[in-house]
Amino acid sequence: MTENLLNELKNRLYEAADLGHAASVLNWDMSTYMPPKGAPQRGRAMATLNKLQHEKFTDPAVGNLLDQLETALGGRPAEDDAASLVRVTRREYDRAVKVPASLVGEISEVTSALYDAWTRARPANDFASLMPMLEKELDLFRQMANCFPGYQHISDPLINFSDYGMSAESIRSLFAELRAGLVPIVKAIAAAGGVDDSPLHQLYPEQEQESFGVEIIKDYGYDFERGRQDRTHHPFMTRFSGNDIRITTRFNENYLGDGLFSTLHEAGHALYEQGITPSFDGTPLGGGTSTGVHESQSRLWENIVGRSHGFWSRYYSQLQAIFPEQLNPVSLDEFYRAVNTSKPSLIRVDADEVTYNLHVMIRFDLELKLLEGSLAVKDLPEAWQSRYASDLGLTAPDDRDGVLQDVHWYAGIFGYFQGYALGNLMSAQFYDAALRANPSIPDEIAQGEFAGLRTWLTENIYQHGSKFTADELLHRVTGEGLGIKAWIKYIQGKYGGIYKL
Ligand code: ZN
Repeated sequence: MTENLLNELKNRLYEAADLGHAASVLNWDMSTYMPPKGAPQRGRAMATLNKLQHEKFTDPAVGNLLDQLETALGGRPAEDDAASLVRVTRREYDRAVKVPASLVGEISEVTSALYDAWTRARPANDFASLMPMLEKELDLFRQMANCFPGYQHISDPLINFSDYGMSAESIRSLFAELRAGLVPIVKAIAAAGGVDDSPLHQLYPEQEQESFGVEIIKDYGYDFERGRQDRTHHPFMTRFSGNDIRITTRFNENYLGDGLFSTLHEAGHALYEQGITPSFDGTPLGGGTSTGVHESQSRLWENIVGRSHGFWSRYYSQLQAIFPEQLNPVSLDEFYRAVNTSKPSLIRVDADEVTYNLHVMIRFDLELKLLEGSLAVKDLPEAWQSRYASDLGLTAPDDRDGVLQDVHWYAGIFGYFQGYALGNLMSAQFYDAALRANPSIPDEIAQGEFAGLRTWLTENIYQHGSKFTADELLHRVTGEGLGIKAWIKYIQGKYGGIYKL
């Protein structure tokens, strides 16, 4: 009886997921290969699919099945697969039924048009051309938030979609604590004098950059039989199913860091998705549990592993062999310091580990103001510049490297930026726990051996998909909740060494 109900629920969830699968393929294609003039019809097609998916998922029959299954599975422990499926589906179902399908469709359509316009506005440095559409987009997301009355701040419902259990208030207070711990380190590094990162700023042909990156992520364990890598404007990872998890990257021939670390970052997201229990596929359990936990994995593989001394002691000679002219004059230690240079910069995705969170805080604060309406879209570029001046001491030459740099607001991604900083904090907490369980991980990394770390992450984090919330996962894995201590200690240790603080 219970088995039949579960199968009926899963079949309904699979149908909704299949529509989502199709919409994701269209979205991936739009961001990689679609000819520029295909945008309007593509936008409509995606909107139709997203609306249909929403209708399938919010069918009252799904609610009925959940009611019956909650009774039938009442006594099972929280980590039971079926109980977890019902619990997590219930949470998403109750949320989804509050949002009309028409709003889902409208957001999807406006977002595709805005994204398409952004791909042209950024190179043209033309923020003004996006203003009417961005205003419309913000209005739609306010409508979305207003489907969940009773919030403290209008962004709370949106934050809750990405990082369940968090709110504008809880993040503000965490960020205040983080800023207090971070600013003295940033100042000490500035006082210590610069590290030379000129080795990274030479001509590095794209093809060779790509093959080196692919080599590394194969060693990490990214399965190209269940994924592929393509190029895009703003790198991302996307999951169509457990057997098709794709990443994208971009290259800058005059800067090695951009393509290489984007590749490692997106591969980290993909390792998480490829490690999820296959039977969760097509259900709300079959995906990473929160933006913060997802970013903890991309940042862990990009930074804690990919910018470590051990990692480069294994891979630097290989990189030198590919780029002998550029790198033979540069020693391993010089290269290690170059990839860990810390200085205030304008572009978030290229920012070093220390200053990165300051970029995130700027976006988080500005987005809250945009959503609450205390900052008008027309004043956004100036507000952006003034925060970069006060927080990082820098002014962008124009909006391309200012307010137009990140895709998020132009791709309908709101309530999301905090996840990057939460991810940094969690990456250090998870890595500490991995080291407690297996202290030889750093030695393994220095041999190009990643199975030990990946297996630990898979057993403790990846396999669970969305079974546990971020907070539950942190407590299970590390014995503590989210906090800044582990990350500050990691940064102090690493940068204290590099800058002799
Ligand atoms: Zn990411």
